[in-house]
Amino acid sequence: MIKAEATGKRLPKSVTMTADLVVVGGGLAGLCGAITAARAGIKVVLVTDRPVLGGNSSSEVRLWVLGATSHMGNNNRWAREGGIIDELLVENMYRNPDSNPLIFDTILLEKVVSEPNITLLLNTSVYDLDKSSPDTISKVYAFCSQNSTHYELDAPLFCDASGDGILGFLSGAAFRMGAESKEEFGEKFAPSKEYGELLGHSIYFYSKDAGKSIKFVPPSFAHDVTQKVPKFRSFNTQEFGCKLWWIEYGGRLDTVHETETIKWELWKVVYGVWDYIKNSGNFPEAENLTLEWVGHIPGKRESRRFEGDYMLIQQDIVEQRAHYDDVAFGGWSIDLHPSDGVFSEIGQSSCNQWHSKGIYGIPYRCLYSKNISNLFIAGRIISASHVAFGSSRVMATSAHGGQAVGMAAKMCIEKGLMPRQLSEKQHIAFLQQELLKTGQHIPNLHLQDDQDLVQKAAISASSELALEELIPTGEPQRMEFSAAQMLPIANADVKPSLADVKTNAEVKFKTILHPYADEPTDLDVELRISSKAANHTPDIILEKRLIPLEKGRNCVHLEFNLAEALKVNKHQDLESLGYAFLVIQKNEKVKLPYSDQRITGLLSVFNLVNKAVSNYGKQEPTEDIGVDTFEFWCPQRRPLGKNLALKIEPALRAFRAENVQNGLQRPTNQPNAWVADPQDKNPSLLLEWAEKQQISEVVLHFDTDFDHPMETVLMSHPENEMPFCAKNVRILNDKNEVIAEIKNNHQSQRRIVLEHAILTQSLTIEVEHPSANVPAALMEVRCY
Ligand SMILES: Cc1cc2nc3c(=O)[nH]c(=O)nc-3n(C[C@H](O)[C@H](O)[C@H](O)COP(=O)(O)OP(=O)(O)OC[C@H]3O[C@@H](n4cnc5c(N)ncnc54)[C@H](O)[C@@H]3O)c2cc1C
Repeated sequence: MIKAEATGKRLPKSVTMTADLVVVGGGLAGLCGAITAARAGIKVVLVTDRPVLGGNSSSEVRLWVLGATSHMGNNNRWAREGGIIDELLVENMYRNPDSNPLIFDTILLEKVVSEPNITLLLNTSVYDLDKSSPDTISKVYAFCSQNSTHYELDAPLFCDASGDGILGFLSGAAFRMGAESKEEFGEKFAPSKEYGELLGHSIYFYSKDAGKSIKFVPPSFAHDVTQKVPKFRSFNTQEFGCKLWWIEYGGRLDTVHETETIKWELWKVVYGVWDYIKNSGNFPEAENLTLEWVGHIPGKRESRRFEGDYMLIQQDIVEQRAHYDDVAFGGWSIDLHPSDGVFSEIGQSSCNQWHSKGIYGIPYRCLYSKNISNLFIAGRIISASHVAFGSSRVMATSAHGGQAVGMAAKMCIEKGLMPRQLSEKQHIAFLQQELLKTGQHIPNLHLQDDQDLVQKAAISASSELALEELIPTGEPQRMEFSAAQMLPIANADVKPSLADVKTNAEVKFKTILHPYADEPTDLDVELRISSKAANHTPDIILEKRLIPLEKGRNCVHLEFNLAEALKVNKHQDLESLGYAFLVIQKNEKVKLPYSDQRITGLLSVFNLVNKAVSNYGKQEPTEDIGVDTFEFWCPQRRPLGKNLALKIEPALRAFRAENVQNGLQRPTNQPNAWVADPQDKNPSLLLEWAEKQQISEVVLHFDTDFDHPMETVLMSHPENEMPFCAKNVRILNDKNEVIAEIKNNHQSQRRIVLEHAILTQSLTIEVEHPSANVPAALMEVRCY
């Protein structure tokens, strides 16, 4: 028994912890940074003030995690972020394809507590810090009201991933809040004061069918939305959760210190919306609906942005500028909102989103404070202008940046450097390479790993796909919208040389299609490419053809001379040659056959509308706001989005065995994968060396469909394992002995550490076809 005598003031229990890195904020940026650092070998304390991890993606707030894939609604193909965030999303897809936010919580928790190098402090709020010099944080102070414990957290390095930037603010780091003028950085999309300079908070709610009539008596604080919300007629029973992101408020207030005021206003709106749905009489279908959940804390979009040595701006995004120190990428649209949010007038769009033609790099210099020497910044607070923040703020992008911070912290500890020193050119390449090894994708970079024995191996395969036909299956589909088949020509035999282009040599390829016409008509066909190799915006039309069709089944031979087409279009930069797009314009009198075959690095795309991300088929700014005009050509989600059935001559040999050593782990301007022939009964890859090698580790990268956005809440996904991902793999030594085996794989990266190093002159990697319609593929193999 404890019997405490009356005394004066008491202090709470105090605990001191020491680590290499203290990460403040358990949102996806902080979490992915902490895991990356811990796996790289340094000690991390991850402290977050919430009971669950994930920040805005947690079950407390319930936003779906997105990034450059943008719901598959822009032209960023295979753009899901890599590394830890990919591992989390792929795992979530496997366990939770119906997107239950509580299950996502468990995955985040499991991943963090599985790391022996992480000490996790939940429910613990950082509120103060000490500095050892004007530019150096020495310790931070935090308090957990659940265990009534006060923490002193000491470390040489800190990362602020707290969303509002508590560490940056308290330490005196330079920051901004609100929007820059157009003049400051020449950003033509910078908003006016009337439009608003800050994005507001939102609160979500879920409803469910109770199976019986449910009455709702609103709390007295609920708004009458018919009086308060000009756009109240947009509320309905179908849209809730992430679809009501526009219940937004606070953009004209102080989004840090007035958060509680903002939350109250949002609760008034949410309960008012529910009152309107239940009691207005306009929604008889809501009779059995009940409120299942309303957020207790708001999702915060914007508050402080901290200044690093570089500030990301609009032009970096739109022009996809490359920086020597790119360590992550973004690809969400520049997405700004009117500060009046839910109270905006009818006719004013709740968001203003403008996409780029492809993904853009995020420099390392955006990820540390310019004046606090040992402070990394991650998440929505990175060094970006208000306009650029409109894109970089989303969670998968934030997480990707967080991962870069985690690896940078490890390198700083190892080399005795401060974050700024690591930005020097001699260090940055090493950071980039270490990140690429973890699966991080960085635009325009590929892994060059001298330690990797595969780089010295002769590589061959039991077979390589030569793409000569996509076999028709099922009923032909009416061409209600324009379609295009992406064809990987960049490393296939049909790619002309510069000499071919200059001399107009014949470098031809032919496609054969079998469209069905209801009556005689013309089929409008185009051959397009992208102006940048790794982009997938087909913005250059190389050739246009009008093909007369007869009634019934037609056989259309389309022969293209690529060398000539490129010369005519003055496109001589062959390094920038990526996929070709065989475009067939909409014609409702025509039906096209499609194929059930799905192949790594091969996609069909369609010129459709996806309002959720402001894709109306074509992006056309009506005034000069510094963004491009271009068409959207996007895939459809499975089970739709089949490849067009066609024949190709000569067969496209873009799926070669040696692709596994080219340092790219996803399709970019080419598939970057070894893909086996579907007829090959036992697909395998053979690595051979001139002499015996000592091997203790093998790393394999699988195709988990980097085109799939894997939204974490509200959406159901058609599969829990990606159809391209090989499940069963065996690795054999030069005596044909099995040295490792993977069964039922669903992850992108598998690292096999052998119990004992082996000596062998070859490795055979047997990879089962994932299914009858999908041939075996490997993106990358590395051996150490
Ligand atoms: C309504 C809304 C819709 C959005 N839509 C999308 C979308 O569709 N997809 C998408 O990806 N993004 C979306 N965003 C943007 C995105 O959610 C945020 O920009 C994002 O959460 C940034 O990640 P973060 O890790 O920086 O911050 P957060 O997710 O906010 O994580 C920060 C964490 O730090 C903790 N913390 C704060 N202060 C302290 C402290 N003093 N001590 C300890 N811990 C602290 C917080 O509690 C939180 O857990 C949306 C945002 C909002 C609000």
